[in-house]
Amino acid sequence: MDYYITCIPGDGIGPEIVAAAKKVLDAVARKFGHSFKYTDILMGGASIDVHGVPLTDEAIATAKAADAVLMGSIGGDTNTSPWYKLEPSKRPEAGLLKIRKALNLFANLRPAVLFDDLADACVLKKEICEKGFDLVIVRELTGGLYFGERKTYTDNGVRTAVDTLKYDEKEIKRIAVKAFEIAKKRRNKVTSVDKANVLDSSRLWRAVVNEVSADYPEVTLEHMLVDNCAMQLVKDPSQFDVILTENMFGDILSDEASMITGSIGMLSSASLNETKFGLYEPSHGSAPDIAGKDIANPIATILSAAMMLRYSFDLNKEADAVENAVRSVIRKGIRTKDIASEGFETVGCKAMGELIAEEIG
Ligand code: NAD
Repeated sequence: MDYYITCIPGDGIGPEIVAAAKKVLDAVARKFGHSFKYTDILMGGASIDVHGVPLTDEAIATAKAADAVLMGSIGGDTNTSPWYKLEPSKRPEAGLLKIRKALNLFANLRPAVLFDDLADACVLKKEICEKGFDLVIVRELTGGLYFGERKTYTDNGVRTAVDTLKYDEKEIKRIAVKAFEIAKKRRNKVTSVDKANVLDSSRLWRAVVNEVSADYPEVTLEHMLVDNCAMQLVKDPSQFDVILTENMFGDILSDEASMITGSIGMLSSASLNETKFGLYEPSHGSAPDIAGKDIANPIATILSAAMMLRYSFDLNKEADAVENAVRSVIRKGIRTKDIASEGFETVGCKAMGELIAEEIG
């Protein structure tokens, strides 16, 4: 079958890591008899240099016409790049906000996986790392406190500010459905995180999540308060499969979950809309300090491509093959510089992509 993928190589290490991910996808296509057709678009600094804006309407139209979008990363050195002398709406990051809005990406997925062979990089105690973990945070991305009404004013001479946390049942339902669907492709467990002992929005959240769970009898649902979840992530992350939560809690918990793996070059992510369409990108930035040196770790982007296979194309076997190929290369002791320690063979970005592609066969 033909799958149409819009690629955003972007800035910094973006073009190198996207090229490595395409190599791996091409190996999947050969092995499993698919055809991936790529169209590149410009975004971020690369688009500013050519078009004067971080994302054109034509580029958005190309992305919308595809089955999914695979992105490297955008942005430059925020202290020295001329892109950051432009007004905020013309800077590279404005392109990312624009495409997320245009594609209606309301669900953000951030997996945190500890690879057995990289347990040394885990910042947690040895006995916790030894149990391993493989979880994904499903965060609501377009509602809640970050999008509510806000104002700053003076009340009887006292400076005062208000932010509003609002969710309606439709917003909660659509993200809950995503989380349960994702759990069905994983280990059938959802932990819904809220602050229902204090917040009305959380009490509605809990009620709607319970209603949605009735349609997924095979998935176990538990509720957890956000403060407890923050503790449990460092105490016993192996207990989690899918963590479902609202925008601000998800923002904080997903950074905490990324940190405990200890390897920024390994962390994938996805943003999905109501259909199967999604934008897949590494969690890290454009790493301008190492751009063009062929030393970036492409694995986060390759694992993002695996998520694309699983969640946008329903190609689970193919996604497993990519994830297993990554594990296998790491098990052989092959590392990029960022995850290497003494005694390991260090390879560049391009070679890492080729080795993972070869592993697929
Ligand atoms: P960064 O993630 O780019 O880099 C932080 C550190 O991690 C750097 O030392 C970098 O060399 C290293 N690193 C990151 N990815 C790596 C990889 N794959 N392999 C090896 N080492 C890697 O964060 P930053 O330096 O704060 O930001 C740089 C630029 O990226 C900024 O313009 C920022 O706005 C942008 N950014 C973009 C995105 C995105 O495209 N979604 C996300 C975050 C930051």
